Amino acid sequence: MTKEQTKQTTDFGADVSRLLEIVTHALYSNRDVFLRELVSNSADACDRLRYDAIATPDLIKDHAGFEIRMNVDAPNRMLTIQDTGIGMTRDEMVDNLGTIAKSGTRNLMEQLKQSNNAAGAPNLIGQFGVGFYSAFMVSDQVVVTSRKAGSHDIWSWKSDGISGFTIDQATEEESAKLKTTCGTVISLHIKDDASEFLIEEKIKRVIVTYSNHVSLPIYVGTEEEEPINTASAIWMRQKSDITPEQYQEFFMMVSGSMGLDQPSVTAHWHAEGKIEYTALLYVPTLRPFDLYDPTRKHAVRLYVRRIYITDECEGLMYPWMRFIRGVIDSEDLPLNISREMLQQNAIVSRIRSSVTKKLLGDLDKLSRDDETAFNAFWHQFGAVVKEGLYDAVEHRDDILKICRFFTTGHPNNLTSLDGYIDRMKEGQDTIYYISGEHVDAMRNSPQIEGLKKRGLEVLLLKDTIDDFWLPVVMDYKGKKFVSVTKGAIDLSKFPLTDKKSQDPENDNAEGKAETSARSDLIAYLTTKLSDRISKVRVSDRLTDSPVCLVAGDQDVDLHMGRVLKIHQQYEANDKPVLEINPAHALIATLDDLAGKNSESDILSDAAELLYDQALIIQGEPVKDPTGFARRMASFLSKGLAA
Ligand code: ADP
Ligand code: MG
Repeated sequence: MTKEQTKQTTDFGADVSRLLEIVTHALYSNRDVFLRELVSNSADACDRLRYDAIATPDLIKDHAGFEIRMNVDAPNRMLTIQDTGIGMTRDEMVDNLGTIAKSGTRNLMEQLKQSNNAAGAPNLIGQFGVGFYSAFMVSDQVVVTSRKAGSHDIWSWKSDGISGFTIDQATEEESAKLKTTCGTVISLHIKDDASEFLIEEKIKRVIVTYSNHVSLPIYVGTEEEEPINTASAIWMRQKSDITPEQYQEFFMMVSGSMGLDQPSVTAHWHAEGKIEYTALLYVPTLRPFDLYDPTRKHAVRLYVRRIYITDECEGLMYPWMRFIRGVIDSEDLPLNISREMLQQNAIVSRIRSSVTKKLLGDLDKLSRDDETAFNAFWHQFGAVVKEGLYDAVEHRDDILKICRFFTTGHPNNLTSLDGYIDRMKEGQDTIYYISGEHVDAMRNSPQIEGLKKRGLEVLLLKDTIDDFWLPVVMDYKGKKFVSVTKGAIDLSKFPLTDKKSQDPENDNAEGKAETSARSDLIAYLTTKLSDRISKVRVSDRLTDSPVCLVAGDQDVDLHMGRVLKIHQQYEANDKPVLEINPAHALIATLDDLAGKNSESDILSDAAELLYDQALIIQGEPVKDPTGFARRMASFLSKGLAA
């Protein structure tokens, strides 16, 4: 009998066999992850030795220094990953590499048992990560040669991933690979269909992607002296030790911005207490071209104790924070947690809450320290931030605090809600707003004439998102948001600022009389336009224009209705209210006419024209453009002839 034949093959447990069968046969698309798994095991092994050596310094007496080294031997189709970590004894090899030890893999097996079909397996592998066994995705023979720190024995574990494994004293050749006092070499014989992992450049690229910030040097090549990774996690360093250039360099890496962009906020902090994490996050200055793409995910990388986990942890950042770049490194999360489980993990949502609070605070600070920079930020990202008003009730007040709006109060300027409240008129307890597409058009809207004349400020909301958060956010600091294009507005407690003072009594008396009148015209228009409007009433919204449209009290607001129609989710069939300006000369004339002869063609044409005019101001198309043009021409020629 040769030595070879005396070796005893130990069968894998049933679970491992099943797992291996899936791993080796499932065509899992992202095989790169095996490198991450093996590097992370090596890094763990180094961390553990480092820790044990605190109590037993002898363990690292002649130690060569902590490192991970990869080597490619393409002619022999070999890839080796070597570390100077704690190593494994024979028994540990049996336990760690022959059974399913880790909880993540255990969960995977549970899932597989439940689903009982192999078709979904690749997906599950992707979610759970299969740790050490992932080596069999790319190799048909794995040899683990290891020497435990403090021991002289070197053992070799071998497996083809199918029939089981053998453990034996390492051969001289195998021992030679292990040049250090302790540690592990994993030798992978690369499968025919995985030749890409015999290319050094490929290995380097994968390592930079997944393991750049593993805090040990990783070398690719036997003699190589330059680590391929940065070997130190910048976010773990003291702020005072990091230069602005280094912050910028890292920003470029995480944002892929190639130096075109500078962050407007760099937030670097360490949180301790109920949860412990370190974050280095950036608010970019420029908006990515696909910011509004609903499928766009946030781009914050999640690390757990310096090991890169994923940049697709959905629950880590709110979708409305999708412009933030950087890393969050948790001390509390288990390393091998699955992506799916991350999403619902309580630690993750606590981190999200804490990070959101901190960033909103920093942005608020920016608004006070550097208004220009803040306003630039707001123009780029404000519309996205406002999504948070309905998405993150918990942070609503902090978001409202940094919101900026165009306003009639400052021409061309933005105001905060606090600024608006400071300028409120005596007796005013609501925040007036109008929403539409164009700030200038809104500024001249008939619906806000009466408010402007009374010195009441109106916010001009131009983002589509505004129509979605306003219905759910009722107020700010107890001041209700009130749309000036919806429902009746009582402005009687605010006196008109001009003309009033000269002859208050006379004016008042006349105003009263006028306001109660125009009943002939109201009756006429109500019948004439009954198919298009729900009601006609006099209004104090208007001072210069004869008419305007507003939404009914219970109806969808005018601009909102338009937005809904464009997005084709819903067509509001609400008929608007037509408001008339009783003091307007044209209205007075038409009222006279309606009283005298309600059959008049001129009256009929005028009613149509008034209605169409109101539509045009609203940005709505005129339903019968030909009719509109004919009526308009007829009135023009009458006007010119007179
Ligand atoms: P996990 O890393 O989640 O525990 P793995 O399947 O990746 O699960 O690894 C199983 C176990 O094998 C590890 O917990 C560790 O005890 C052992 N192991 C794997 N690789 C090494 C290594 N390079 N050095 C020392 N021990 C290792
Ligand atoms: Mg592992």
